[in-house]
Amino acid sequence: MHRFFVPPHSIRAHRVLLRGTIVHQIRDVLRLRPGDEIVLLDNSEHAHRVELVTIDRDTVRGRVVEKWKLETEPVTRLTLYQGLLKGQKFEWVLQKGTEIGVAAFVPLLAARCIVGSLDEMSAARVERWERIIVEAAEQAGRATLPRLESAMLFQQACERARLGGLSLIPWEGEPSRGLRDVLLPIPKAKECNLFIGPEGGFTEEEITLAREYGVVPVSLGPRILRAETAGLVAAAAILYEWGDL
Ligand code: SAM
Repeated sequence: MHRFFVPPHSIRAHRVLLRGTIVHQIRDVLRLRPGDEIVLLDNSEHAHRVELVTIDRDTVRGRVVEKWKLETEPVTRLTLYQGLLKGQKFEWVLQKGTEIGVAAFVPLLAARCIVGSLDEMSAARVERWERIIVEAAEQAGRATLPRLESAMLFQQACERARLGGLSLIPWEGEPSRGLRDVLLPIPKAKECNLFIGPEGGFTEEEITLAREYGVVPVSLGPRILRAETAGLVAAAAILYEWGDL
């Protein structure tokens, strides 16, 4: 059944009133008809099974036939500080990270980000990224939409991460400490911050600064993962270790 995130005000008691692009999607793309059912997600951990009643040019009306609480969010709120990547690679991280259970994404302006990728922070590009997250969250049946935060410089990100949770920076130069060495002794953390570098990796200065802010360098093993792989592997491993996957 098709799932859509909608603003909470679209659902009042048992009545549903939808406007905007979702109307086009329901009527023209999915060609749904009155009597068909969809699931509406209100971004507050509830899902509503809705029977379509009328489908007009600009509005869709429906009635809620069932409402339930979604239990699909990980206990650990994982924030992925992802070094900005070229083009589709960053979009891939947003989509797959949403499916895995990442709670928030922070585009990270690290020293070795490729110049072109910095230009990609246009409003249109951010809007596209948000759409990718919504579509991935609908497909995955997430209970709440992952947040796309504003881009941050490395030091800003370290300051933000210091506000709470276990902070990790996978670094291929880390000689001994593996991800599991850090996770095993810790009971499941409520918050986890994960720093992943761009294609060129982190500089030594960034790793030193991260240490000063209590961000722990960890190895993801002897093989060098692409930037768009590393964040997903590390996020999945962390959520798995803490029973969220
Ligand atoms: N220095 C890398 C190289 O030689 O290709 C470039 C960095 S790698 C493509 C991108 C990011 O993925 C790194 O900054 C790091 O965060 C993470 N990463 C990749 N492989 C890793 C590993 N084996 N251990 C820890 N982090 C890794």
